[in-house]
Amino acid sequence: MKNKARFFSQLIVILLLSTLNIFPWGDKGHKLISKMAVDFFPPEMQAFKQWKDYLEQHAPDPDYRKKEDKTEGPKHFIDIDFYKEYNTGSMVEDEKKLIEEYGEKEVVHTGILPWATLETFQNLTKAFKDGNKAEALRYAADLGHYVADGHQPMHTVMNYNGQLTDQKGVHARYEITMVDEHLNDLEKSYRPVEANYVKDPLKFIFNYITDANSVCGLLFDADNYAFKYAGQRQGDEYYKLLWFRTKYITEIQFNEASLHFADLIYTAWVDAGKPSFNEMK
Ligand SMILES: [Zn+2]
Repeated sequence: MKNKARFFSQLIVILLLSTLNIFPWGDKGHKLISKMAVDFFPPEMQAFKQWKDYLEQHAPDPDYRKKEDKTEGPKHFIDIDFYKEYNTGSMVEDEKKLIEEYGEKEVVHTGILPWATLETFQNLTKAFKDGNKAEALRYAADLGHYVADGHQPMHTVMNYNGQLTDQKGVHARYEITMVDEHLNDLEKSYRPVEANYVKDPLKFIFNYITDANSVCGLLFDADNYAFKYAGQRQGDEYYKLLWFRTKYITEIQFNEASLHFADLIYTAWVDAGKPSFNEMK
């Protein structure tokens, strides 16, 4: 009986650990990041600000593809601290090299967000080159989504839902319930600057993912702090305290996500030879 109980408890642990990190920023968070990005476009891309509504409306699209397309889920995260190379400060950024070392199954299971972002960026560059407006819009919207996911600290860590530290559910508490309540505050926090050209997109993507991963501890601490003083991980008091302790870093992550999205759109456009807005058909 005892053995049987232990077997089932172990089975449950295995099942929980094997569940992929499949959470999204909420739809509203994604929409805000994508719509604000156009304010970071440089003057020579002024006309492309007309894409604002499309980018906003279609920002959550990749999350809705997960249901039909089983290859979509791992594109939204990377549990980067799974890799010993990352933890010792020398992450291997080449997907092929990681696959050689860990096997494809493990790499996919750990999440392929950086390379999905890069591929979408390359597709966007090609669409700009082809002057294909519909494709450019579609890839730009997807790119905004993946860049935003790369700025959600919990999309970059093995403990993505607090499941390893008794804080289960922290992912949705933070990025959906709390963020949705503070969309106006987040929008007001925006300080647009001019987007820059990115020389090495993959390195750039890994840099912002590393930054996001480095603030995970702060978010988990804030959840414990709010729990300590509110006595529960729900309710007004809990969420007030969670925002109190994470507002600063969340505003930074939103601003940076929009800026980095604009940086990559600008870079794709420059690499494609700066097609004029009216040339795009
Ligand atoms: Zn996502």
